[in-house]
Order: sequence, then structure tokens, then C-alpha cells
Amino acid sequence: MLDYLDLAAELTEEERLVRDTAREFVDDRVRPDVGDWYEAGEFPEHLISEMGELDFFAPNLDVGELPGVGERAYGLLMQELEAGDSGIRSMASVQGALVMWPIANYGSEAQRDRWLPDLASGDAVGCFGLTEPEHGSNPSAMETSAEPADDGEGYVLSGTKTWITNAPIADVALVWAKLAEDCDLGDAGTVRGFLVDADRDGLNTSEQEGKLSMRASCTGELSLSDVRVPEDAVLPGVSGMKGPLSCLTQARYGIAWGAVGATRDCFETAREYATDREQFGGPIARFQLQQSKLAEMATQHTTAQQMAFRLAELKERGELRPQHVSMAKRHNVRVARDQARVAREMLGANGITTDYPPMRHAANMETVYTYEGTDDIHTLILGEDLTGIPAYE
Ligand code: FAD
Repeated sequence: MLDYLDLAAELTEEERLVRDTAREFVDDRVRPDVGDWYEAGEFPEHLISEMGELDFFAPNLDVGELPGVGERAYGLLMQELEAGDSGIRSMASVQGALVMWPIANYGSEAQRDRWLPDLASGDAVGCFGLTEPEHGSNPSAMETSAEPADDGEGYVLSGTKTWITNAPIADVALVWAKLAEDCDLGDAGTVRGFLVDADRDGLNTSEQEGKLSMRASCTGELSLSDVRVPEDAVLPGVSGMKGPLSCLTQARYGIAWGAVGATRDCFETAREYATDREQFGGPIARFQLQQSKLAEMATQHTTAQQMAFRLAELKERGELRPQHVSMAKRHNVRVARDQARVAREMLGANGITTDYPPMRHAANMETVYTYEGTDDIHTLILGEDLTGIPAYE
């Protein structure tokens, strides 16, 4: 398995265990069928409880019964899941980083007790509703509103959230909404997070049709039409855009690692194919053109891998800034997107099928390049960090 600078030599026993458990899970439970799920456009829901049993959901949280593994172990988990398919990693990322993390960090004790055990075991599924039909890259312009109910008990949510991973199978949605008027939760226009049970009246979900990327992932729309939620549905510990943006930093950290796994899987597939496939009287791996592609792929993988390892160190020390994560998400996903296409090319006609992973990874990377901040938006975040001048508008 490609690890050109032997970064694995530094891993602790715990990190090896997490990595190997995830790798085995992917080999046994994902690889044999993922091509079929992809073609069918299905997320393998039957794997959710197995993933829960294996502690794949937010194992880096140190709350309640959660294992509290280190950030590098968590990153390795994301790496191995995405080597299988971005859809599997996305499910775990959303559940762990975008739903459990905010509940653990901003939730009340009652919210933590109500949701964390079920989300950790996979008995419940969560989703994160930020994007809206008219507001993607600029979520602070969101229109979804929360206003105090007329009878003074709880709040009423209205709006539409779109492109929401896990939405069609979720038991709970973390919905980010703006206060429609000054109230106990803050001034009008303040963004707050609400935990909404999926069976609330007025909440409807529908599946996003026609995806040509991330097909083994469940994506949908949340439509909220005067959804009444109790007062204790609000996340008490955070207010303003810091809420959703801090969750995104956690998830983007996992993506920076996940992309390394997808790149590695493409490299391994291409190397094996090139050594087996014969043309002009011998394996295509003997051609300099093919060796050049492998050399570049291995080098790009290694740079991405080192960025991910460094992020983990900074995160453990509490020195990780969102801008560091932007750089790694942007770079590592670019690497995966570019190299998946090269691997696809090396497999010739076979490369365009679901029998081999590169084209599936390449298609998935179009989503990963776009969600959790598009490549452009991360470029602007870095531009602002480097110059002090914001250039978003
Ligand atoms: P837009 O914001 O409309 O952008 C269109 C283009 O304009 C992009 O290329 C963008 O980079 C560019 N652009 C925008 N602003 C600027 C600017 N200032 N300067 C230069 N260029 C700019 N969202 C959730 O809330 N929860 C989820 O679970 C979730 N899951 C997703 C799953 C999938 C499969 C996909 C595809 C998306 C998911 N998303 C989710 C939504 C995702 O985060 C958004 O698609 C993303 O933020 C981009 O928003 P947009 O699609 O509206 O594009």
C-alpha cells in the first residue's frame, strides 16, 4: 500500500488499530459491492449499524461513551473509508463531524443524552441542513427562518434546505435558521441551530435525483413548512455563523484525509493494472509514459498525505486554524480529482466502468471539490488570510 515516506512508521498502536479496522471493513463490506450500489444510485443503509459497532461515528469525541481516539486516528479512519467510496466517508463525516460534534460541543446535557448514544451506534442517523436553493457558497444569506410560536411555546421553522447528505434517511436534522424577530434566542437575523426530529409535522424530505457523482450516497432536500419545535430544540451553546462554520471546519478536516485515501486507491489500481496489462509484447508499466504517470501520482499522494498528517498534529495541539484546513481540503481534493483522471486513463476502456474504482472516484471528486466550500471559496479564504483583504464580493 502506497506510503512512500513511511509515515505509518510513526503510528501508535491505537492508530494502527483504527486504520486496519476501517481498511478491513472496506475490503470486506464495501469493495465487493460498491460498483453495483454506485450504478443503482443507492447508499448501503445496511452498513450503518455495522459502522456504528465499529465506532466509525465521531470516535474522536471524548464525551459519554465515545472512545475519544486521537485526531490522527480519526483522520486515518476517514482516509480508509474514502479509499472505499466518498459516499461511505460522507455518511460518517456528516454523522460524526456535522451532527455529533455540534451536539457534543454546543448541545445541552439533555440533547447529548438524547442523541449521542443513538447516533454513535447507528440506531439514529443525522443530517446537517445549511445549504439552500438560492444560497450555497454564501450561507449567511440563508432565508430559512425561526420565529417564536404564537402561544409562546417553542419556535416555528420555515424554509428549504437542499443538497443535504443523509436527509432522506435521517432521524434528526440539524437545521440552521435565522431568527425572524428579536426574541429570547437573540436579535432578529441571528443564525441558530435547531435539532429537528424527522417526524415533525411540516418537515418533508425528498431524494435528489439525477446525480452523476456521489451516487452511493443519500442526498436530499429538507422542506420545512411551519415546523413547530420545542424550546429545547435549539443548540444552546452557539449563536451566529460561528455555529455552522465551526462544524464545517471539523468535516473539512476529515475530507482532507479522505481525499488521500481516494488518491491512494487510484494509484494502487493503476499500478496493478499497468503491471498486469500487456500491450506491444509486455506490461504497459514498462513504458516511460506510464511510469511518469505513476511517479507523479505517488508524489502528489505523498504531498497530500503529509499535509493531512501535519493537520492532525496541529489539531491535537489546539493550534489548527480553519485556514489551515482550507489549504489542505483544497489541495488534497485537487490532487484526488486530478489523479483519479490519470488513473482512469491508464486503465484504458476498462477505466470507464464500475469494475474499477478510478472513474467512480473521479466522479465523486466533483462533489468533494464542490461541497464543504468549493475550491474557489477555499482559494478566497486563503487569499484573505494571506493578504488581509477579503475578495468574496
Ligand atoms: P454556488 O454557491 O452557486 O456556486 C456556483 C459557482 O460559483 C461555484 O463554482 C463557486 O465556486 C462559484 N462562486 C460562488 N461564490 C463565489 C465567489 N465569491 N467568488 C468566486 N466564485 C464564486 N450542504 C449542506 O448544507 N449539507 C450537506 O450535507 C450537503 N451535502 C452535499 C452533498 C452533495 C452530493 C453535494 C453536491 C452538495 C452538498 N451540499 C451540502 C451543498 C454544498 O455544500 C454546496 O453545493 C456548495 O456549498 C456550493 O454551493 P452551490 O452548489 O449553491 O454553488
